Amino acid sequence: MQKKYLPLAVAVLVTLLVLFAHLGARLTMATPAFTFADTGREVYLTFDDGPSTVVTGRILDTLKEENVKATFFIVGDRVFGREETLKRIAREGHTLGVHSQTHEYRNIYASSEAFLKDVKACAALIEETAGVTPHCYRFPGGGKHPKETALLEGLGYTIVPWNAVCGDEEIPHASAETLVSTAISTSRGKERVILLLHDSAPHRETAQALPAIIAHFRQAGYAFCAF
Ligand SMILES: [Zn+2]
Repeated sequence: MQKKYLPLAVAVLVTLLVLFAHLGARLTMATPAFTFADTGREVYLTFDDGPSTVVTGRILDTLKEENVKATFFIVGDRVFGREETLKRIAREGHTLGVHSQTHEYRNIYASSEAFLKDVKACAALIEETAGVTPHCYRFPGGGKHPKETALLEGLGYTIVPWNAVCGDEEIPHASAETLVSTAISTSRGKERVILLLHDSAPHRETAQALPAIIAHFRQAGYAFCAF
């Protein structure tokens, strides 16, 4: 190379390096927005599969009376006709997360394209209806989904699993008493409890059990947190 071209070559090289650095930063920018409070014992009450008219309303009443914030993982198809309930969840300071548009496993997990389309439909509906942008997601049916997790984390979502249940899906026709004791037994010994509950239409017993579930965690010194 002739000496006179050296500054030009250096300039081109520097420009390329800067461009790649920017590109790299953009590709890694979307980190999950949520970090745990880590303030000792904490419990996250998480409600899946709603909204429903009666059960979600009763749960919101209890949360308000008890001054507890929770997280609701929404099924988009169930919002129609219950827009006011969705708005109320947001207005009362709870977190709205995405739990899919349809809850139809076969369609949701059919391909990456189908998965993202489903997530975006539900997120857009939450945004249009309640005016908040969801930042957390729960997989319908639970389980590990590495490919989908990477896609969601790339979009800035926090994936929320659970480590305790009240049994309202797992135990057929469970009474409120059974739900309370299952919530207590499955969360025993855990400093951070992420409790799975459901607020879809059949789960009146869950709404019934909620005051005693809250009383238990409060007595055991847990702070109530939301995602
Ligand atoms: Zn579900």
